[in-house]
Amino acid sequence: MTHEPEVLRIAGREVPVVTATTVVVGTGSAGFCAADRLWELGHDDVVMVADKVHAGASRNAGSDKQTYYKLTLSGGDGDSVREMAQTLYAGGAMDGDNALAEAALSARAFLHLCDLGVPFPQNRYGEFIGYKTDHDPRRRATSVGPYTSRSMVEQLEKKVGRNGTRVFDECRVVDVITRPRRDLPADDGVPPVTGDEARATEVAGLLVLRTDVPHDGVESPFLLFRCTNLVYATGGPAGIYATRVFPNGQWGASGAAYRAGVHGKNLTEWQFGLASIKPRWNVSGTYMQVIPRFVSTDGDGGDEREFLTEAIPDPGRLMSLVFLKGYQWPFDIRKALDGSSLVDLLVYRETVLRGRRVFVDFRRNPVQERFDPSLLSPEAHDYLERADVLFGTPIERLRRMNEPAYQFYLDKNPYVDLEREMLEVDVCAQHNNGGLLVDTWWQSNVAGFFPVGEAGGAHGVYRPGGAALNSGQVGATRAAQLIAARRGHAPVPVEEFTAAAGPVLTGALDLVAAATGRASSGVPDNTGDLLRDVGVLMSAKAGPVRSAASIHEALVQVHAWLAEYEATISADGGSRRAVNRTFLVRDILTTAYVYLSAMADYVAHGGRSRGSVLYTDPDGGLPRVGYGEHTERELDLPELFRFTLDRGALDDEVQEAAWLAPGADGPPAGWAEVEPRDADDPAGRPVFRWRPRRPIPEDDDFFENVWREFRAHGNTH
Ligand SMILES: Cc1cc2nc3c(=O)[nH]c(=O)nc-3n(C[C@H](O)[C@H](O)[C@H](O)COP(=O)(O)OP(=O)(O)OC[C@H]3O[C@@H](n4cnc5c(N)ncnc54)[C@H](O)[C@@H]3O)c2cc1C
Repeated sequence: MTHEPEVLRIAGREVPVVTATTVVVGTGSAGFCAADRLWELGHDDVVMVADKVHAGASRNAGSDKQTYYKLTLSGGDGDSVREMAQTLYAGGAMDGDNALAEAALSARAFLHLCDLGVPFPQNRYGEFIGYKTDHDPRRRATSVGPYTSRSMVEQLEKKVGRNGTRVFDECRVVDVITRPRRDLPADDGVPPVTGDEARATEVAGLLVLRTDVPHDGVESPFLLFRCTNLVYATGGPAGIYATRVFPNGQWGASGAAYRAGVHGKNLTEWQFGLASIKPRWNVSGTYMQVIPRFVSTDGDGGDEREFLTEAIPDPGRLMSLVFLKGYQWPFDIRKALDGSSLVDLLVYRETVLRGRRVFVDFRRNPVQERFDPSLLSPEAHDYLERADVLFGTPIERLRRMNEPAYQFYLDKNPYVDLEREMLEVDVCAQHNNGGLLVDTWWQSNVAGFFPVGEAGGAHGVYRPGGAALNSGQVGATRAAQLIAARRGHAPVPVEEFTAAAGPVLTGALDLVAAATGRASSGVPDNTGDLLRDVGVLMSAKAGPVRSAASIHEALVQVHAWLAEYEATISADGGSRRAVNRTFLVRDILTTAYVYLSAMADYVAHGGRSRGSVLYTDPDGGLPRVGYGEHTERELDLPELFRFTLDRGALDDEVQEAAWLAPGADGPPAGWAEVEPRDADDPAGRPVFRWRPRRPIPEDDDFFENVWREFRAHGNTH
């Protein structure tokens, strides 16, 4: 199988088409895992596609000690599949079958990586010793160091290379091609795949833009894939936030999925946290445990102020809260009332509300020149004493405790020498817990479409640190198992594919023609401005701090941008980058539109502050921490920070989202719009429904019964 493109005539154009049973989109840890699993399971008619093979969070992001979460594989501590599933489920709004599968396949997924050469630490007897991460009642976490996910992706990539799987690089996703579902021959006696009866559409293929091909009419910049299955491993939709710690070049392609009718789930649930912005990196772990000084400046770096003291005048309290940020890294609204998340809020006030810049300074101690350990909380004091660093300046403590963490910023581009300069930080979007809808097998509501890794929405409100990487491996494995067992049939025939792909290709060609025509008639290229503006707006109005009013304000703007997109977008036709952005920006706007609507729907549903988000509530309270015994007193903070905790009120419900194309019927029964629009609204209509989450399954665990069932028809139903 060479998977050479063949040229077909579609919508009056000659276009190259690659045919493969399964296309894996995205070359991160989830995508490569899926490609390898498929191959290992004997399903080798597979190709991979990515906008940049070396982009993505897995390869380019990490932290002080990047965590992988797994079932306990060491020591005498008890653990079980069900207990781990329960931990994941306890995060709230997570479906129980996904939690159970993530626990059940955890060891298998982890050992697969070990066998491929990911150097997870083990003792001389082969035990994988773990440590405790956030939301973890055991010690299930492990790490390879700052670059755990990079190590995973590199070993998986090597294996996929050895398998001989072809990878198409420089391909930006434009649209997913679907068609009404075909009747497939019944599989005698095998129970149908869960939820299949409700799937009205199926995958027919994918349209991508080849970003390395000039638009000179010689070679088609568009490439089509005709396939039975799409494993969608395009990562988190990072492009919707400007203030993000996702690496450069990770955009996501969720908009194309919504445009094709794939549903979303728990979209409101993001993780935000303190990160340096140049270079982008989480300042968790030791960076905070050594208690640096936080300062803010005006836009030009003048008017330096140590701003935390404004709200936290007690120096011991201040230092202890900064220390805690080391392992209470993501902004957690439950810790905002009287805990370490106040630090994130105060940074947010400086950057977003006051328009200032925030830096962490390792050269000097906070508040007072001399470090006074006697002021620390017992927890912080004990930890730093055991690390033998109850002395000196933050940089001295950092280099003593974790020299690689200091060296790390020296090796980056741009490099920062923490001995000499301050590090600019902000409260950044780091991970989307929600995403595209997944079922027990990580199949979405569109037959043959499998969102895995961060593109999929397997998590709920909270998750243990490291669970994202486990989830990506498990989801990829589950999808591969189902595809290999049940979805090996040929892609739709060429004529039917041509019919399904024709309108999608025409739409893309028309968009490019209109955008480049506008630029040649003198309208300045606006792709770059829009790309920046949507992210800035989202970070300011719909980031870690949101209110019904700010969500609405952003929604009005994003709706307007999207509704007038085809009529206003202008792209320099001579610039491959501008044409590429034409599709990228549409994808991001579509995603932002669906996400903002989901936030508005969440508020309308009675949703309150939870996870990593503060929803302003005029009837709520303001943080109180910082006045020693006078904790009953509210701090003098902006009213925007007044909130009420949700206290798990919606933990047993899941919000699902769908995007209806302009002119589509609907909303379907049980779904509702949060801001009603005309059926032919050019931006389309996001619709929502709330359903009870699926509980953790209680299957028959009597071996003879499971074996009989398994012998009869495997487990993929
Ligand atoms: C700073 C940081 C620290 C983190 N720390 C942890 C941690 O400690 N533990 C943990 O479990 N998780 C952590 N995460 C989250 C975790 O790294 C990611 O969720 C995970 O790596 C995502 O893997 P993925 O394979 O789904 O996507 P990615 O690795 O992001 O890969 C996405 C792929 O899709 C491609 N792609 C994207 N958009 C398009 C498009 N439009 N067209 C074509 N191709 C496209 C990209 O090129 C890439 O190949 C962290 C994330 C960040 C940002």
